[in-house]
Amino acid sequence: MTNRVYNFSAGPSMLPVPVLEKVADQMLSYKDTGMSVMEMSHRSAAYLEIFNETKALLKKVLDIPDNYKILFIQGGATQQFSTIPLNLMKNGKADYVVTGQFSKKSAAEAKKFGDVHIAYDGSVNNFKHIPTQDELDIREDASYVHLCANNTIFGTEWKYVPDTKGVPIVADMSSNILSKPINVSDYGMIYAGAQKNMGIAGCGVVIVREDLIADHKENIPVLMEYNTIADNDSMYNTPPTFSIYVLGLVLEWIDSLGGLEVMQERNVKKAQLLYDYLDSTDFYKAHSDKDNRSIMNVTFTTPNKNLDAKFVKESIAAGMTNLKGHRSVGGIRASIYNAMPYEGVEYLVEFMKKFEEENK
Ligand SMILES: *Cc1c(COP(=O)(O)O)cnc(C)c1O
Repeated sequence: MTNRVYNFSAGPSMLPVPVLEKVADQMLSYKDTGMSVMEMSHRSAAYLEIFNETKALLKKVLDIPDNYKILFIQGGATQQFSTIPLNLMKNGKADYVVTGQFSKKSAAEAKKFGDVHIAYDGSVNNFKHIPTQDELDIREDASYVHLCANNTIFGTEWKYVPDTKGVPIVADMSSNILSKPINVSDYGMIYAGAQKNMGIAGCGVVIVREDLIADHKENIPVLMEYNTIADNDSMYNTPPTFSIYVLGLVLEWIDSLGGLEVMQERNVKKAQLLYDYLDSTDFYKAHSDKDNRSIMNVTFTTPNKNLDAKFVKESIAAGMTNLKGHRSVGGIRASIYNAMPYEGVEYLVEFMKKFEEENK
């Protein structure tokens, strides 16, 4: 095998090696079809089997109840920022919890379509914090409450599901879906792009309670109608076939290891190693509040910007990539999704210790 680096990219990001090997193995001929998955008709028997198995595995792994529709969508999570209000803002009112860049963008987009109330604005503390139940100001007549379950850029994560007094929660789980078990019934809708923790760019997943998509605003683009996508089992038009296939392989990998309990155990162990080290030294500073730390995206800084840059430069030479923080935050960000092995985080922590010794 060629030398692989520890890739700490926030997305697109690392894939499990067994998944890549399987893709390579099936590249020239998927099973006995004599063609790659990329070359198949989405209506062919071979592809429909892949599609249906992927959907069934997602349902199994996430334990999705029967009254939820599973949709494969394109346009990334960002497309959903527009699609959600067009379908779910039934009475023209929706509430948004702003805890980072993506939730800010989703709220800004929803404002085009109706009355948006910001239930909490985390910009006051530079998005270090996830609101407690008491800090949330949710309107009882909102059509839905939107939140971002894991803030990829700032490195914070919701550790509880807020009580919204029956108002459906719509959650952007792009960067933490499949990282731990969740109770799907706590949400009206869950959505995520695949390229962070589920697979590769091109497809996204929407898991939505049936009753919420019975109708929508009139005269909206057909590919934004959730009920049309559902009625056509995500094949109103050509779906992102290869991306769905890779998602299926990732789900198989998760399932074979024991499912989401095992993923959570692995992820908590990795994150703990990194946070314990960050807490043991004054040299590095973790960005987010202790109670809200993400187990997927770990953000921190060295004592100054020059050292941040030096850290990134030397980490590349040491065989790690994409540790540079997002341009809006600076510092360092280590994205440690499901596919990052424990050894990768151990290697990073050893590097951090050495860097601290040399630069303190
Ligand atoms: C990456 C990300 C997005 C945007 O995803 P695209 O697929 O680029 O549209 C939205 N929300 C969250 C939480 C993300 O991490």
